Amino acid sequence: AKAQGGGSIRFFNPAMQEAIIRRMLVESALRKAVQHQELEVYLQPQVNTQNEVVAGELLLRWTDPDLGSISPAEFIPIAEASGLIIPIGTWVIEQACRTLRDWQHIDALKNIPLAVNISPRQFRHGGFVAQVEHCLHEAGMPRGLLELEITEGMLIDNIEVTVKRMCKLGDLGVRFSLDDFGTGYASLAYLKKLPLQQLKIDQSFVRDMLADANDEIIIKTIIGLGENLNFSVIAEGVETEKQLAHLKALGCKKFQGYLFGQPAPIAEWQQRFTQ
Ligand code: C2E
Ligand code: CA
Ligand code: CA
Ligand code: CA
Repeated sequence: AKAQGGGSIRFFNPAMQEAIIRRMLVESALRKAVQHQELEVYLQPQVNTQNEVVAGELLLRWTDPDLGSISPAEFIPIAEASGLIIPIGTWVIEQACRTLRDWQHIDALKNIPLAVNISPRQFRHGGFVAQVEHCLHEAGMPRGLLELEITEGMLIDNIEVTVKRMCKLGDLGVRFSLDDFGTGYASLAYLKKLPLQQLKIDQSFVRDMLADANDEIIIKTIIGLGENLNFSVIAEGVETEKQLAHLKALGCKKFQGYLFGQPAPIAEWQQRFTQ
């Protein structure tokens, strides 16, 4: 059954065939989009308990002329697999540094850090540290304003190299936030060895918190962990006042989600921030 299954699934399952064709279409369109600089970065604010914007996360957006708008959930894995994530990731970091540099001249924004999502392949790439250093240098901005969001998966294989790289970047003033926390397999023993500043509670826990007692317990545990190990903790995917009130009651102090603002072009948010 095994030998038969392999062949028939790969070549004759119409749904899979369609998925493979879609992947190829998206990959070649993405290659063009990179060449013609058709990707955009959007900004989503992060707020404190007083509802003041204290940071922002950059999120990629892409609309292809033929395929329409394609979600990063679809094209990031394709970018990873094809290696396109390297030029794309570099470009996002450049956008972050450029924005941070511009904001140095705007009083209301000069202390607002920006977070960038980093893919495992991008982080493992040999030139990564030098590239970030170059961008920071070009932008000539203060330390502590560029934040990298990494995921637990990146901490599993090759932990020594990862730690070394994180420390080097930490020395350059880069901050780290552990994204989607609670969904992966990060060893708690490693958490305190890492130059890490923040844990980001995965949005699935926030979404189900009010219905599922287990999710509430997980959130409580993450907040406690943050307090004990001195990490700040942010909840993402906050959509309702009820979720916000509950998270506050559990001791959470930073929030991100549609309740505070959708991801939008940087210029748009910049205008709103400075009004
Ligand atoms: P993520 O880093 O976990 O980002 C959070 C996702 O939740 C974003 O989806 C954001 O738009 C969405 N979101 C924000 N607030 C809410 C809310 O209140 N409710 C709900 N349901 N969703 C909310 P998005 O922008 O589609 O990005 C999906 C994923 O794609 C990201 O997940 C991240 O893993 C990846 N991604 C996006 N931009 C980049 C990038 O520049 N580089 C890399 N490597 N990955 C990226
Ligand atoms: Ca993120
Ligand atoms: Ca996340
Ligand atoms: Ca995610």
